[in-house]
Amino acid sequence: MFIGGEKYNPIQAETFDVINPATGELIETVSSASSDDVEKAIQSCADAFNPWSQKSYAERAAVLSEISTVLKEKEYLEKLAVTLTKEQGKPLTESRREIEGVIGVIDYFTGLSSSLHTDFFENKNNQSYSFTLKKPLGVCVSILPWNMPTLILSWQMIPALLTGNTCLVKPSSVCPLTILELAALFHQAGLPAGVFNVVTGSGEKIGSQLAASPAVRKISFTGSVDAGRSIGVEAAKYNKRVTLELGGSDAMIVCDDVDIRDCASKAVQTKFFNGGQACISPKRIYVFESVFDQFVQAVLESVSKIRLGNGLSEKTTMGPLSSAGGQKQMIEFVASAKAEGAKILAGGKIPEGDEFKNGYFFEPTVITNVPPSSGLLKEEVFGPIMVINPVSDLDEAIFEANHSDFGLGASIWTNDIRRAKRGFEELEAGIVWVNQHTKVLPELPFGGVKDSGFGRENGYESLNDYLETKTVVFKF
Ligand code: NAD
Repeated sequence: MFIGGEKYNPIQAETFDVINPATGELIETVSSASSDDVEKAIQSCADAFNPWSQKSYAERAAVLSEISTVLKEKEYLEKLAVTLTKEQGKPLTESRREIEGVIGVIDYFTGLSSSLHTDFFENKNNQSYSFTLKKPLGVCVSILPWNMPTLILSWQMIPALLTGNTCLVKPSSVCPLTILELAALFHQAGLPAGVFNVVTGSGEKIGSQLAASPAVRKISFTGSVDAGRSIGVEAAKYNKRVTLELGGSDAMIVCDDVDIRDCASKAVQTKFFNGGQACISPKRIYVFESVFDQFVQAVLESVSKIRLGNGLSEKTTMGPLSSAGGQKQMIEFVASAKAEGAKILAGGKIPEGDEFKNGYFFEPTVITNVPPSSGLLKEEVFGPIMVINPVSDLDEAIFEANHSDFGLGASIWTNDIRRAKRGFEELEAGIVWVNQHTKVLPELPFGGVKDSGFGRENGYESLNDYLETKTVVFKF
């Protein structure tokens, strides 16, 4: 763990193992926080709150910018990327891009610090002036998933810190090591002790303690729908703010007026990015039937070029699943797809060969003609299975796309401006892309509707989620 500006190892603690998903080897044994450890971490954040919140935006932005400068040093970026690949499995190029994404988030938010403003009102009848002050909340908690741990940390933590809050982070037990390395680097760059603490261990146990603690004023949770729901219920009992960034089953609609080969190759790039373990990867692809066969053929050609392997090899373009549980889910999805009469056109199994035998690999898989009742369309498929179904027209495509409990992202691929407009107006999602999918920038609000959660990360408006508005009425 990392508490009060230093590494913290409780003497008698339960532990859990962090496994390299490409090799099955043990990387590190990490402590599970007891309730006393969690209390110690909350107290440390609470103690650090006053001095940190009393600094100006510019002073806090200067500290955060120093973190960005340190991360830009090749030596640190590379070290973090290697740890991320070892514990999460993604190819090194993707790990590097993730850390570069963290830098982008820091640079964006620190650049905003000079434009933060409050409101002023003049009431002549009442002979008063009124204005608002923006006050930080206090201790903010960040509960992280394993798929993009460092980027999501930055979405939650950078606006929280910039606005004067202190942060307690609970990483996923699949991937705690990169977050612990980052914590040490942040302090090396000048973040004061206690402003950013990390506790490791069971989400369920720690999550309910954090929700019940009076010192914790906000919980930002990114993860699965069920865990998010339980955090939401716990936090509501204590009137705490929450942001819930949950699962997704993004639809991608491919119309008949686009360059089909180009669109298919981009679909493959985005779908198999991070081994399909991205909340906003296109999980249900609906293609106009007039171009369906052509699209599927082009997808199969692109998929055949994916190089599966250990992410530490520069040749690898797709790594293993991050856990044995993820691999088992893929096996089960394929078995039920077969039973439901869907067509498995590529992959569908654990790859053969020595290189793969101890890791959690699964072949990049393409499945078509999946019935609407299938789990592949109703649940979140968090892995390398691409599902493609034909649709007769845009009405059917939009109906099928919206026929889901999820509503994170969606995309429409067309050169017809009227179709594009119908897509961004009618698709039920927090983000709609036209002619791309998965592009996320720090200035753009990010989040979902329906079971995909509520609240937004990123963008100027996310700063307000970490601030309380105080209204002052000043009568002369
Ligand atoms: P998960 O829900 O299993 O775990 C996420 C975190 O919550 C972990 O740190 C875990 O320890 C903790 N946790 C688990 N149960 C908890 C509880 N009852 N109370 C408090 N904390 C608890 O999710 P995961 O498997 O790590 O991540 C994958 C999921 O995250 C997918 O559903 C994916 O779509 C989603 N995700 C969403 C976004 C988004 O921005 N919407 C981004 C990335 C991932």
